[in-house]
Amino acid sequence: MSLLSGTSSAIEERIVAASILTDRYGRAITDLRVSITDHCNYRCVYCRTGNEGSQYSELPMADYLRMVRVFVSLGIEKVRLTGGEPLLRKGLVDFVRELARLRAAKTGEPLDIALTTNGHLLQDLAHPLKEAGLTRITVSMDAVDPVTFARITRVPGSFERVLAGIRAAQRAGLNPVKVNCVLLRGFNDDQVVGFAKFAREERVIVRFIEFMPLEEDRLWTPESVIPLREVVQRLESFRPVVRLSPNNASETAVRYTFDDGIGEIGIIAPVSQAFCGQCSRLRLTSDGKVRTCLFSQFDHDLYGVMKRGGSDSDLAAYIERTVALKEARHHIGEAEFLKPSRTMVHIGG
Ligand code: SAM
Repeated sequence: MSLLSGTSSAIEERIVAASILTDRYGRAITDLRVSITDHCNYRCVYCRTGNEGSQYSELPMADYLRMVRVFVSLGIEKVRLTGGEPLLRKGLVDFVRELARLRAAKTGEPLDIALTTNGHLLQDLAHPLKEAGLTRITVSMDAVDPVTFARITRVPGSFERVLAGIRAAQRAGLNPVKVNCVLLRGFNDDQVVGFAKFAREERVIVRFIEFMPLEEDRLWTPESVIPLREVVQRLESFRPVVRLSPNNASETAVRYTFDDGIGEIGIIAPVSQAFCGQCSRLRLTSDGKVRTCLFSQFDHDLYGVMKRGGSDSDLAAYIERTVALKEARHHIGEAEFLKPSRTMVHIGG
């Protein structure tokens, strides 16, 4: 049975007459990240505090689905599920199945449905998720050395679980699997060459992400960031690298392979080479707030509109008004930078 039986006709009419969301800087907004819980089973040192909190916020899956349908009616083409840890969420596979029924407003093509996970529960879920219609998966993994990995996640045995999850995703046909690593000076910056070998041996795309000031503890300093050029130098100490052309105009990663063409490494450099000018993203938090930038000072309470009895058209109008407020860029590294009103785990990465 549909999670949303009986409420889709207004949206379907709207899909026919879809306008594509564009912000006031002319950026087409096609990409939505949806956090379906802010609960996580890891406590990565660069993301969360070590304290075990029991409070977390999540909405009924049917409510996320209704909001996503409205976003899709306005031109969203790609939905990435995230959290917290999305694999903790009951009903995830059915939710993906419902998303897979939606069609992009502009092209009529199925949505691109991606998911970002820590991989701990992926071994059992990879196959059902692929069958339900998941298109792509990114697994976060911050070290290839099990001891360093467990020190970062603060969960013993986590490396073996995640590796098993990555391999299960590949067997399920979720290819290529992307592996994201946030590099922090003094924690895991000695892992770059290990990851280069891992990418080549395991046939995954490894992407290094610059550490951003979005953590619960106060760890971030400009010096803690390993900038793109330093990652490239470290890769070069292993083998010469060759730059690859971008897959598309809004690609966030700068892509490299090695001189023998084996292995792909991406570097996502929001701090040293910000890509705000090409940002195509909105985020929906697990409590139903729209965020126009990771570093925004504001939440926009879409769920509040829904709870007050707003129609799908009201939700659509609210989203359009919110997109008009999307910031030109973040201000990391500038004197006027203010930490955002929420941390990564509560926004959805
Ligand atoms: N639990 C899932 C996971 O581990 O991928 C999804 C949520 S997690 C918040 C999403 C991504 O954000 C992860 O790849 C994580 O490494 C990244 N992340 C968290 N804090 C970050 C920070 N301060 N700077 C850069 N990336 C960060």
